[in-house]
Amino acid sequence: MANSKYEYVKLFEQPDQLLPNTWVVVRIDGRGFTKFANKYNFEKPNDKRALDLMNAAARQVLIELPDITIAYGVSDEYSFVLHKTCTLFERRASKLVSTVVSTFTAYYIFLWSTYFPETPLTAPLPSFDSRAVCYPSLQNLRDYMSWRQVDCHINNLYNTTFWALIQLGGMSSTEAGEKLSVSLRSNGNGFSKDKNELLYSQFSINYNNEPEIYKKGSVVSRDYELVEPGTHNTASEGESMAELAAQPQSKTQAENDGKRRTKARVVIEHLDIIRDDFWDRRPWLLS
Ligand code: ATP
Ligand code: ATP
Ligand code: MG
Ligand code: MG
Ligand code: MG
Ligand code: MG
Ligand code: MG
Repeated sequence: MANSKYEYVKLFEQPDQLLPNTWVVVRIDGRGFTKFANKYNFEKPNDKRALDLMNAAARQVLIELPDITIAYGVSDEYSFVLHKTCTLFERRASKLVSTVVSTFTAYYIFLWSTYFPETPLTAPLPSFDSRAVCYPSLQNLRDYMSWRQVDCHINNLYNTTFWALIQLGGMSSTEAGEKLSVSLRSNGNGFSKDKNELLYSQFSINYNNEPEIYKKGSVVSRDYELVEPGTHNTASEGESMAELAAQPQSKTQAENDGKRRTKARVVIEHLDIIRDDFWDRRPWLLS
């Protein structure tokens, strides 16, 4: 571009590179989705079509952005994890955050009619906010993922009980809220046990038999071969772990990884990501 007297304005742009060598989580969240869910008559407590749509949009984000290693979604939110070695957009926060959220939103709207064929979208159209957070250690990243999944569990147990009291128990939402706030006041552990018991004794609902997608949320990742627990070998053919560890990742290795990522199928699962087993069997996610 030609120099001009206006070019100095570029200097006002502030650097916003994310800390190197940290796990980056970009979390998007539906804007005003309580209202949005009412407008489109989402089933309560869980509208399966809406969750499937969220998952389909997230899957496209992983396909278009191979730097994302795993994503976790619940309700109107999704967390996308970028590997700590990721250098996409020189790790500029605004670039990463805006690219992820606009790709997600574009697919959410594009795929809407597949999941809600009878209800066309009308303005105001759905939108999402987005932020990026750096996690310096694997433990921090694992704790972040666990935090979101525990949140999913607590909210879903609450919502399942709340809506059973209304839909099956004939209570008003105020009455249901009051009933639950009583069990909320009882001590920590009794809290979730109370709801399990209430569901079972009053409505014959065994919470354990509720669909996994509601209880655990959704995990989006690339479908490489699972590693048997205990073996832990991610080296590609002909390369030992020691050889891999001894040398910094070469250009060709990085290119091969990129190709492998682009070729792998992106799958959606509803699994426990708090326990070690999930991560032990997928060492490529964190290595
Ligand atoms: P904000 O703009 O601050 O995020 P919000 O109304 O989106 O406000 P959230 O805390 O993000 O608030 O909550 C998401 C809302 O969307 C909840 O009310 C939740 O019940 C509703 N919701 C999202 N997904 C579904 C779904 N699949 N089925 C039913 N309700 C849903
Ligand atoms: P980046 O992802 O880094 O933004 P880019 O290819 O989008 O890469 P830009 O600097 O944003 O690069 O430039 C936008 C490009 O799109 C230019 O090549 C410009 O000529 C082209 N372009 C944008 N709008 C139009 C248009 N209306 N008609 C023709 N070409 C366009
Ligand atoms: Mg929010
Ligand atoms: Mg929201
Ligand atoms: Mg939310
Ligand atoms: Mg451009
Ligand atoms: Mg441009």
